[in-house]
Amino acid sequence: MKTLESWHEEEFKSEITSGVVEALGEGAYAATLARALADCAGAAESFCAERPFACAAGCPHCCVLNVAVLLPEAMTVALWLREKLSGEDLADLQKRLAAHRSWARWMDDEERILKQMSCPLLDAYGGCSVHAVRPLACRAITSLDSQSCRDAFIPVVTDEDRLVPADLFRKVVYDAAFTALASGLRQVGLDDRSIELGTGVLAFLEHPEFVERFLSGDRLPQALWQ
Ligand code: SF4
Repeated sequence: MKTLESWHEEEFKSEITSGVVEALGEGAYAATLARALADCAGAAESFCAERPFACAAGCPHCCVLNVAVLLPEAMTVALWLREKLSGEDLADLQKRLAAHRSWARWMDDEERILKQMSCPLLDAYGGCSVHAVRPLACRAITSLDSQSCRDAFIPVVTDEDRLVPADLFRKVVYDAAFTALASGLRQVGLDDRSIELGTGVLAFLEHPEFVERFLSGDRLPQALWQ
């Protein structure tokens, strides 16, 4: 494992961006992108692997917050779901994603907590159903105390600060990976915009043609952000 002492943010970002450009320089394919995303997450995790956290499957409290992802992250989750789920389960999930988009897309975190608008990708046991391909933003957040999480995400209106002790170094590392990935996408002429997680995944599920559109360097319709 790399250590905090060996962390140099600009060097890290530059390595990630170069890796993405090298991987996609010969042409962007869904599988190459999925590997490039896994490499980004792996590079970040190499600095964080043995750092403590209290998060575990079945503790889904923070999965109510807005999650911003880059388009290839949403695409990779959608393609993974299409491969793993039966037609019936996929249709059910699309309905949940569509309902979530209608209700939650303009809500801020506070409203989401109050209305308990949890991520539609949570499974019935409070685990992440896309854990293997979960976005960088989800990997960035870890709590150091599960009881604080439970208290912080209780849906009540309060003026009190509800603080959760978190691993800020992990957040810095994953945020840097996110920025460097976006930079790599930009350099190879791919759309580097971010989008709300559920909206992005649903877009690629409802419109399979968006995969080719994205990979060819076209921009997805602006309506997705409106
Ligand atoms: S993708 Fe997974 S980890 Fe991220 S918010 Fe949804 S359920 Fe939670």
